[in-house]
Amino acid sequence: MNSLCVYCGSSPGTDPGFMEEARIAGGLLAKAGITLVYGGGRVGLMGAVADAALAAGGRVVGVMPADLVSQEIAHTGLSDLHVVNSMHERKWKMAELADGFLCLPGGPGTFEEIFEQWTWALLGFHAKPCGFVNLGGYYDLLRGTIQQMADKGFIAQQYVDMLIYADTTAEALERFEAYVPPPPKWGVAPVEQRY
Ligand code: AMP
Repeated sequence: MNSLCVYCGSSPGTDPGFMEEARIAGGLLAKAGITLVYGGGRVGLMGAVADAALAAGGRVVGVMPADLVSQEIAHTGLSDLHVVNSMHERKWKMAELADGFLCLPGGPGTFEEIFEQWTWALLGFHAKPCGFVNLGGYYDLLRGTIQQMADKGFIAQQYVDMLIYADTTAEALERFEAYVPPPPKWGVAPVEQRY
């Protein structure tokens, strides 16, 4: 894995452990020589991951729509900042640049981003791992909702099981390296960058 997209809150959250793990995640990526791809902000958990990766000598690539950049929430010290025209273009660019997609705790933006990549993965549009650092059980309720999708017949169990839940970023990175994608939902062979 050369690059990892991290989705996480543009807010710090109420649990100090969230910011702590964000900093740990940034440091781990830098040490492993894995480029951090993220939304390009300087705020919240996002900013903390980026700052920690940069401080540890890592490469950090941000992708942000021009209107958010002009609101001055862009991180100005990144290795590279792609300024794009829309949120759609942003999510596509982040997905293109990354070899996997990992969530730390976050809000609606975080959920939307990982759901998109999970959907693309189960369709075989890419073969990259998707997962969660389930700090303090933050993703337990979501996990239950996702399991209900299989229990009620909206998705096969293998597409529930393809999601990785780890207690720490370090564990998530190990499991991402070992990830084997399931066969695509409609039987189409996975083709890189089909989206
Ligand atoms: P949220 O979880 O709702 O705080 O949204 C954070 C996620 O959505 C991040 O992973 C970003 O990619 C994207 N995002 C939302 N708001 C911003 C922002 N102000 N700056 C940069 N990215 C953002």
